[in-house]
Amino acid sequence: MQSSKRKGLLLIISGPSGVGKGALCQALMQRNSNIKMSVSCTTRAPRVGEVDGINYFFKSPEEFQQMIEQGAFLEYIHVFGVDYYGTPRTCVEQQRAAGHDIILEIDVQGAMQAKQSCPDAVTIFIAPPSMSTLKTRLIGRGTETQQAIERRFEAAFEELQYMRKYDYIVTNDVLDKAVVQTEQIIAAESLRASRQMDLIESFQGGFSTL
Ligand code: ADP
Ligand code: 5GP
Repeated sequence: MQSSKRKGLLLIISGPSGVGKGALCQALMQRNSNIKMSVSCTTRAPRVGEVDGINYFFKSPEEFQQMIEQGAFLEYIHVFGVDYYGTPRTCVEQQRAAGHDIILEIDVQGAMQAKQSCPDAVTIFIAPPSMSTLKTRLIGRGTETQQAIERRFEAAFEELQYMRKYDYIVTNDVLDKAVVQTEQIIAAESLRASRQMDLIESFQGGFSTL
């Protein structure tokens, strides 16, 4: 039996823009009520339909800088040389303590930073089936200017260099399949002996408890 006090997993999901990280995470949350997303802070402008506190906490550069100085971020990064993105530390710690598995959907450099500060984090890289599929999805989403699409597509080649540093790689060809594969990773990681110390310790009494 799983302990109800199990600490939630810290799942770090990265991959090139347009690969389907958002779609995958939404599906995971719909199917698993114990999975939550960390809401990042960013200085970029909201896209149409994005809501403050739901998609991101939208901050001014000054507010973001102040949070950096206060040590409020588990990790943060200056993406595309334009905007800042960062993971608020407190929220992640609270969710994990409550037993929720929490997903950080963050870029490759932030993922490496977060893994260093939380070595028990599970890193998953979402790969596209091909670069042409990636471009089609990026264009099809229709949220970026042509210039931003080109910038994100170029960045994808750099991000793919980090794949080997991740614990797992999931290829998002058919979304449902990628979702199930990610759930399998979560299930296996939850069963790691190192995450079941309560259970192990409960058997340490040996014959004296018979
Ligand atoms: P990301 O969060 O990685 O930038 P999105 O989740 O916004 O990517 O996905 C980019 C586009 O690709 C969206 O229009 C989404 O609906 C679509 N998409 C995601 N996964 C798949 C898939 N497996 N097959 C086809 N289209 C997909
Ligand atoms: P977008 O502007 O498309 O929402 O996100 C752009 C990139 O920023 C994506 O690669 C996304 O994963 C990354 N990102 C979003 N939030 C964070 C964060 O808190 N930290 C880091 N390091 N990257 C983030």
